[in-house]
Amino acid sequence: MYHVPPSSPYVPCPRCHSTMSTKVTMSWWGGVVGTKMTNLVKCPQCKLQYNGKTGASVKQFIVLYMGFWVILTLVVLAVLFFAQG
Ligand SMILES: [Zn+2]
Repeated sequence: MYHVPPSSPYVPCPRCHSTMSTKVTMSWWGGVVGTKMTNLVKCPQCKLQYNGKTGASVKQFIVLYMGFWVILTLVVLAVLFFAQG
């Protein structure tokens, strides 16, 4: 059975229970890839961003995702540094 009404393809906002959340295609922390990985949606009422499929918070993911890029950047910089001698 398909329980999700056509007007709200995403789970209601976990904070204010609004069903008007819209998909986020790009964000400052995750670009296009990070937002897709988290099914990121934004609530128009309380501005909360969360996983549109599970309703889970994406805060932890943002920290991990940004940490990943910081480490990757450091590794790339280190490689470039040592490659130049
Ligand atoms: Zn909300």
